[in-house]
Amino acid sequence: MKPMNDLLSATGTTIFTVMSALAVQHGAINLGQGFPDYDGPPDVVKAAADALMDGRNQYPPLTGVPELRQAVAAANKRFYGIEVDPDSEVVVTSGATEAITAALMAVLNPGDECVLIEPLYDTYLPVVKLLGAVPKLVRLSPPKWELPRDELAAAFSSRTKAILFNTPMNPTGKVFTTAELAFIADLVQRHDCYAVCDEVYEHLTYDGWSHIPLMTLPGMRERCFRIGSAGKTFNLTGWKVGYVTCDRALAPNVAKAHQNLTFTTAPNLQRAVAVGLAKDDAYFAGLSGQLADRRDLLAEGLTALGFQVLPAMGSYFVTADIRSIGFTGDDVAFCRMLTEEAKVTAIPVTAFYAGANPPSHYARFAFCKNESVLREALARIGAWMERRAGAQRAAG
Ligand code: PMP
Ligand code: GLN
Repeated sequence: MKPMNDLLSATGTTIFTVMSALAVQHGAINLGQGFPDYDGPPDVVKAAADALMDGRNQYPPLTGVPELRQAVAAANKRFYGIEVDPDSEVVVTSGATEAITAALMAVLNPGDECVLIEPLYDTYLPVVKLLGAVPKLVRLSPPKWELPRDELAAAFSSRTKAILFNTPMNPTGKVFTTAELAFIADLVQRHDCYAVCDEVYEHLTYDGWSHIPLMTLPGMRERCFRIGSAGKTFNLTGWKVGYVTCDRALAPNVAKAHQNLTFTTAPNLQRAVAVGLAKDDAYFAGLSGQLADRRDLLAEGLTALGFQVLPAMGSYFVTADIRSIGFTGDDVAFCRMLTEEAKVTAIPVTAFYAGANPPSHYARFAFCKNESVLREALARIGAWMERRAGAQRAAG
């Protein structure tokens, strides 16, 4: 038979699915794939259940139910002072994953260049390539994950159509500063292109760091696709409700991409997310406060075991240097061994790099788990390290 699509045939199953399957196979605590092991807010879940019962179960409007579009517009105003018209500047999607694809589809033609920042989320590169666009990768490196400004500037050209980037950033926990965002904004304007802003962790920032949407910088309102996810904001990752906020001149193409991808998103979930976005400030403060405590528990526990843990100002994740405990293999070997022997799963950070010679000695651990689970994971890693040390001593 004729070969199927070359790109998809050459793409592996996502690392998150691979590592979750390995975790199940070995009875490991899954600190790999980023999903909470606790439920979202009961009132939001109940709103979704109630909404199923009142007869609005047919196709909702293409760009989203009015309640959710209004709630997204209100949240833009409340958290960032962005004025948004709910009727013409919001498109609801089936998760941020679809939103990212729809925003890229909205702007990229085959041959256009798209700047991407490594480490990158695993859907970015395949989608850019499937659209026939040309990825231009710029790399952040541990331990500081600093934006290499000269390299970023060099990646832009007259052929650049868009930059796609993520802040707060998975897997690094980096939150882009105003100065970094201003640098990006300047490049975007000088090269007359667009910015696709993956802001799914917008409400998950810690230690006084706050998320700044690129869209709030001067000249950026018309050029940004700002993407949020109910999965992250309400600890409901299975719901797959995302939203794009963009200028009314850009939104029709996002809507047309959405119409060709999924057309609509479950109406009861949309209506429940609208309830969630209207929650009071205490909810949003509580969300980040609780996650900051879990981050501290995990980061301090790993540090006590001898890992060098990098600071995480946002997201669900911390990264740890595996060399600091004397591990000499790479991150893939480490994560496999940790799952099989310690019964704890993490994600190798090389999975977030596409270019040659990625940093291969960091593992990403998710801390969006119950504290008892995090404690048990630390105990298992500690016991495994002791067993390894004992075996090494015995081997002389
Ligand atoms: N972007 C980033 C950086 C993510 O970590 C994730 C995963 N949760 C997504 C996008 C996808 O979000 P969603 O589950 O809403 O599709
Ligand atoms: N965003 C999640 C993570 O980084 C995974 C989502 C997925 O499995 N597609 O772990």
